[in-house]
Amino acid sequence: MTVTTRFAPSPTGHLHVGNVRTALHNWLLAKQAGGRFLLRIDDTDAERSREDYVEAIRADLNWLGLVPDGEERQSARFDLYEREFQKLVAAGRVYRCYETAQELDLKRKVLLGRGLPPIYDRVALKLTEADHAARAEAGERPHWRFLLDHDAPIEWTDGIRGPQHFDPRQMSDPVVRRADGSWLYMLPSAIDDVGMGISHVLRGEDHVSNTATQVQMFVALGAEPPKFAHEALLVGTEGKLSKRLGSLGMAELREAGIEPQAVIALLARLGTSDPVDPALDADALAASFNLSHFGRAPARFDEADLARVNAAVIHRLPFAVVAGRLPPGMDEAAWDAIRPNLSTVAEAADWWRVVTGPVEAPAQSDEDRAYLGTAATMLEQVGADWAALTAALKEQTGRKGKPLFLPLRQALTGHDHGPEMAALLPLIGHNAALERLRAAAA
Ligand code: GLU
Repeated sequence: MTVTTRFAPSPTGHLHVGNVRTALHNWLLAKQAGGRFLLRIDDTDAERSREDYVEAIRADLNWLGLVPDGEERQSARFDLYEREFQKLVAAGRVYRCYETAQELDLKRKVLLGRGLPPIYDRVALKLTEADHAARAEAGERPHWRFLLDHDAPIEWTDGIRGPQHFDPRQMSDPVVRRADGSWLYMLPSAIDDVGMGISHVLRGEDHVSNTATQVQMFVALGAEPPKFAHEALLVGTEGKLSKRLGSLGMAELREAGIEPQAVIALLARLGTSDPVDPALDADALAASFNLSHFGRAPARFDEADLARVNAAVIHRLPFAVVAGRLPPGMDEAAWDAIRPNLSTVAEAADWWRVVTGPVEAPAQSDEDRAYLGTAATMLEQVGADWAALTAALKEQTGRKGKPLFLPLRQALTGHDHGPEMAALLPLIGHNAALERLRAAAA
């Protein structure tokens, strides 16, 4: 069987960490099996769907490296939905209803008041053709429900949740089409999963009850249901995904200096028993991706974790990957020296300015100024070699530890902390270093 997965966002907003995680897991599932990962734009809702969101979704997936092997748009597939729908009409698997939202609400309240589950009572099934004709005459248009088969128990083995069982008698026949002819999510999605040859549907557990209904839709459409897996939802550190995190888009993350590799490394493993490993790229993650490692508890997304993974990713990013984002003149040696101190690539420019100067060094005590004068003399003898310089100074002055190193670092960089001086000093260079030491000694 070819594994074909899909990511099916509605273009009514930007992708956030929660749906990026779903996209990634579907990508990993497909790649692992050498299969296909498809993007399906769920834009049946013409009012709320926006073209700029469609473009942003494509751009975000691209940035993350989750490039789809194909793309479909629901708005281009209405003819297909109509054809399949007419077959269901002919087979009696969809039926016309006229209740208003208020009437339905009242029915639900009555049932709940009697301690009964609020299941639709199917009274519309009793309408005759004459009733429908009279309604049409009066200008009323029906909405349509899918007729669940009460005699076919709903079962599937969920890739994450294990065996699932639903009793269709305990479920309402879902509305699949509105009176204005527009589609609700449920039926077009099942038609597309069949039409696009989707073998695995991996999505959030908020879709479990939809799956129960869709299992019967697949059968009614004459197709074998795909394999389903439902992941526990993503929550923030304080419980549910906060409004801010829930809407945190890839553009904001990129702006904040988060690398796509960090998003991938963290989200691939979030909710599983596998540790996050910043060394693994998407292909390596695909090889080790395993649905059975997913837990049932909500997956916690912590921005601090993302920042940590991001730093770890940056500390191993090769020069070639970042070269275009570094300040002019900053070469591979400089990147390698500075990279371990970065939490974002943009910070490289700050350290590069320290290399190129000028730097503003703190004022030193008389004693340290004298020491820095000695350092300048030593530097002239040993050159811009940190080990040689400090060894010579240690010998000459008897200083060691902080008094040996800190005044030098301060004079040479203007900072108390930073990249390894052994790597930084040759980048600063002999002449500039000499100048800085003399200035600090003066
Ligand atoms: N557009 C639906 C959503 O975003 C797709 C759900 C599905 O994966 O079937 O929830």
